[in-house]
Amino acid sequence: MDINALIHGFGSVGMFNSRAFLPAFITAVSLRYGSSLPIVGNFDLLQGTGAEPTWFTHNGTITVLALLAVIEASADKMPEAKQVLIEIDKYSKTVLAGLTYMGVISTVDAGFIEETLVPAHAGFLDMFPALLVAGGTFLTTSLRNSLHEIVITADEDDDMGIQNLISWTGDIWAGFGILLLLAFPIIMVGATGIVIGILWLIKKYALHREEKSKVDCASCGQPIYRHALACPSCSAKQERPAKVGIFGQSKKQPANDLEAQPYRLAAKKRCPVCATRLTERNVKQTCQACGHNFMADKEFAEKYAARISRRVPGVIGITILLSLIPVFGLIPGIIYYRLRLVAPFRQYIPRGRTLALKWMIRLFFFVLIALQWIPGVGGIVVPIMALTTYSTFQKQFNKQAAIG
Ligand SMILES: [Zn+2]
Ligand SMILES: [Zn+2]
Repeated sequence: MDINALIHGFGSVGMFNSRAFLPAFITAVSLRYGSSLPIVGNFDLLQGTGAEPTWFTHNGTITVLALLAVIEASADKMPEAKQVLIEIDKYSKTVLAGLTYMGVISTVDAGFIEETLVPAHAGFLDMFPALLVAGGTFLTTSLRNSLHEIVITADEDDDMGIQNLISWTGDIWAGFGILLLLAFPIIMVGATGIVIGILWLIKKYALHREEKSKVDCASCGQPIYRHALACPSCSAKQERPAKVGIFGQSKKQPANDLEAQPYRLAAKKRCPVCATRLTERNVKQTCQACGHNFMADKEFAEKYAARISRRVPGVIGITILLSLIPVFGLIPGIIYYRLRLVAPFRQYIPRGRTLALKWMIRLFFFVLIALQWIPGVGGIVVPIMALTTYSTFQKQFNKQAAIG
């Protein structure tokens, strides 16, 4: 067993839970060509490699890994593809982490044999660490995905761009992290362990906070959301529901407008009765906790759409001001109108249905954004984007709610 390969294997768990193919590709390329480079050639793991390509450092393997790495990174940036990716990537990452470890062992050991003429003992002892590396990747990928789901539920359509930022960070981490691992193996293994520990604590804390935010129902004692109007178990009314926060969480202060409360909950994709998260991307759905038929009441749907439309003048005013600031006003302006005007409708529209329309709008926006830097003229860019997106998704919503 090669100790450098072993350390690399354990450290690589931290990169493989971000991407399956990119760390495998970088590892294979480093093993194949790294030893002939200055500085890089001195890394412990790369000593004596690169003479003869093995199955892992073969040109064919490297080409396939490169192609898959590009496809994976692009798919991670498309919401429609990401949904599929998150279902299967636990397995692809696990398999690639294990295979890469085996690839490193076979490449490093081949060099080892040539130097010492001792036959390789590739048996259970070599397989066992590969299983550990694969298992570690599986567990940490599950952890990463569950954290990711918290981010997705808070901002499903990535109106704030946080998911996109996470995706790019993942690419950089999976690519550069593996190079750093080659350069500073021990430090990187330690750092990876610490990061995974912190992520685990964040997850524990997030779950704990969600549960802690609940209060006991005055009638039946079941824990219910503080901003719920009624208990999902016994339907008893909650006397003083709390305010609805920007991410749909409950605030400490009591709600000041009880009549608006159901619409505020619906705007954050929560049941207007019991405040439980609504999970489907459909206008009409049933609350899993209390059985409420969401948007089945036409009057409710109409009032909901009307309430959102009342936000239009205010949002347009603010986006004009932001849009007047060349370049820097663009992103805050887009985030603002998406959260206020678009998300309340888009979160209930099934994905993919409006794909062609979305691409046409994107093209139109591309032209608009190209003009935004022009002082003065730039002021109309974000408001036009806001109105276009708003009316598109509002029409979709009305159609599905059978109103308007
Ligand atoms: Zn109750
Ligand atoms: Zn409910």
